[in-house]
Amino acid sequence: MKVSDWTIATLGSHSALQILKGAKDEGFKTLVICLKGKEKPYQMFKVADRIILIDSYQDLIKIDQQLAKTKTVLIPHASLIAYLGEDKVEQLKMKYFGNKLILRHESDRNLERAWLKKAGIKLPKFFKTPAEIDRPTIVKFHGAQGGRNYFLTSSTKDFAKKIKPFKGQAYYLQEYIIGAPIYAHYFYSPLTKELEIFGFDKRYESNVDAIGRISVQDQLDLKSLQTSYTICGNIPVVIRESFLPLMIDYGQAVVDVSKKIVSPGLFGPFCLEMIIAPDSQIYAFEISARIVAGTNPFVAGSPYTYFNYDEPMSTGRRIAREIKNGLKSDKLNLLI
Ligand code: AMP
Ligand code: AMP
Repeated sequence: MKVSDWTIATLGSHSALQILKGAKDEGFKTLVICLKGKEKPYQMFKVADRIILIDSYQDLIKIDQQLAKTKTVLIPHASLIAYLGEDKVEQLKMKYFGNKLILRHESDRNLERAWLKKAGIKLPKFFKTPAEIDRPTIVKFHGAQGGRNYFLTSSTKDFAKKIKPFKGQAYYLQEYIIGAPIYAHYFYSPLTKELEIFGFDKRYESNVDAIGRISVQDQLDLKSLQTSYTICGNIPVVIRESFLPLMIDYGQAVVDVSKKIVSPGLFGPFCLEMIIAPDSQIYAFEISARIVAGTNPFVAGSPYTYFNYDEPMSTGRRIAREIKNGLKSDKLNLLI
C-alpha cells in the first residue's frame, strides 16, 4: 500500500499543526477540518494539503460518512473530544488512530483512578464526600476543560460556599499536592511492543502562574482573588535523570493494565500528569490517552527523541510513522 494514497486528518486546533507537519514529513497527504473563522493558522503554515471548513463541530458528523469511504485516518486530540464529546467520537465511522474504548477510562475520573491505581501508581488522596476534606483539595469537574473552573479549598465549610455557582455539576475532590507539576509524554507501539518517552512539559496557566508575581500583601488585598488553571501554553522540561526509571515504570504499568481493562489496550501517544513532591515522591493525578499539546514545543524533536532518532521526530510525526509502518507491514488493523 502506497503511503501517498493515504490522508492523515485532524481537527484544526490543539496539536493539529504538529500532527499535519509530521504526516507530511512521512509522505502522507494531509487534511484539516476546521471551524469557519479558525482557519488562519492552517493557511499561514503550509501543513494542510486540504482544509475543510465546517460551521459547527457537529458538522463533522455530516462529512464523516463521506470520509469513511476514503483512505483517511483521523488523529484524535483533546479539542476533538472537548468539542464533539466522547459519545460522538465513539460513533464516528471514519478510520481513527487509537483505541476509542479507552476514552471513557480517561474522561470518567472514577474509572481513570481505578486504572492508575491498578497500575501501582501513587495517587493524590481522593475524597468521596466534601465532609472528608481535611487538607488542601482541588475541586475538578468531569471531562477535559483545560483546567477551567477548578478551584482550591481546604475545608468542608469553604467548599460549600465555593461550589454554589456550579450547582448540579458532577465534581471530583482530590488532594492538592504542592510540588512541581510535570507532564510526561509517552508513545507505545503495538507493532513493536515498545514504550518510548517523547518528552516532558509543564503548563503555563492563568492566573495560577501570575499570582506569585504580586506580593503577598497585594494577594491578601485582592479579597476575591480565586486561583484558576486556564491553560495558555506549554513549557518544555527536562527532568532530573534519576526520576526516569520510575517514569518509565509508570508508563509501562499504565499500558500493561490497559490491555486488561479495554483490549487491545492503550497505544500511540499518551501522557501522565504528575506532581513531584518535595520528598521526591511522584504522584500522577491524571492520564490523557492521546497526543497532548505539551508535545507542541518539540515539533523538531525533544532532548529524548534525539537519543533514538537521527532526524527531527515529533509526536505527530511518530504517529504518522506508526501508521506508515502499519501500512507497510499490513498491520493497519492493529492501529485503527
Ligand atoms: P481549544 O481547542 O484550544 O479550545 O482546546 C480545547 C481543550 O483542549 C481545552 O479545554 C483543553 O482541555 C485542551 N487543550 C488545548 N490546548 C491545550 C494545551 N496547550 N495544553 C493542554 N491542554 C490543552
Ligand atoms: P488538569 O486540567 O487536570 O491537567 O490540571 C490543571 C492544573 O491543576 C495543573 O496545573 C495541575 O498541575 C493542577 N493540578 C491538578 N490536580 C492537582 C493535584 N492533585 N495537586 C496539585 N495540582 C494539581
